Amino acid sequence: MDNCVFCKIIKGDIPSYKVYEDDTVCAFLDIMPVNKGHILVVPREHHEDIFSTPEEILGKIMAAIKKITPAVLKASRAEGFNLLLNNGIASGQIVEHLHFHIIPRVHNDRLKLWEGGAYESGEAEEIQIAIRTNIDDSKAK
Ligand code: AMP
Ligand code: ZN
Repeated sequence: MDNCVFCKIIKGDIPSYKVYEDDTVCAFLDIMPVNKGHILVVPREHHEDIFSTPEEILGKIMAAIKKITPAVLKASRAEGFNLLLNNGIASGQIVEHLHFHIIPRVHNDRLKLWEGGAYESGEAEEIQIAIRTNIDDSKAK
């Protein structure tokens, strides 16, 4: 896609620090790292989000994440990582080309991604039923 920053990175039209590439996937350093070694893993084809990305490509992205992450952890001397997807503007997705964040973590790095809340009485059952009845099995290939 012409005005997509990640498509430009994949094509080499703008500079980036690539760490991994194969036929389907490209991974590079996030320009504004949450922690050092923060990586973005993206499909080479332009797909806006997880819903518009074919399962086959999603599978290859996950396989690449499994392959890359041990090296990311070693290089950044991290002990764990968060795998994060912002899907949709409401979630904080800014770049509309699917990307998974690999965020290296060390003990007590004080990074807090979210705070948990609590359900009021009956709310958990209500949302459970609403989700279960809305799952579209035709989309689970
Ligand atoms: P998101 O909010 O999930 O859409 O995240 C987009 C990410 O892309 C942010 O963490 C940005 O720092 C990162 N980003 C934007 N432009 C570039 C770029 N040219 N090179 C590397 N990372 C970028
Ligand atoms: Zn793109």
